[in-house]
Amino acid sequence: MLGLIADLNACQGYANCVIAAPDTYDIDDDGLVVLLRARIPGEDRARVEEAARSCPVSALTIEER
Ligand code: SF4
Repeated sequence: MLGLIADLNACQGYANCVIAAPDTYDIDDDGLVVLLRARIPGEDRARVEEAARSCPVSALTIEER
């Protein structure tokens, strides 16, 4: 299982992550990323990792849990 961490001090609201994985990332009214789920099942792993890598300010961290 993968765990997600979002650095809200780094997030600039570019929404690359939302476009790449809208079931996992969203943007709140302040323009900051919201994690819609904290744990990612294996079948979604590649897509969610790619979405995290697409963040221009590296605000998203993925770790094994
Ligand atoms: S891509 Fe990065 S900067 Fe943009 S909303 Fe997602 S976490 Fe924030």
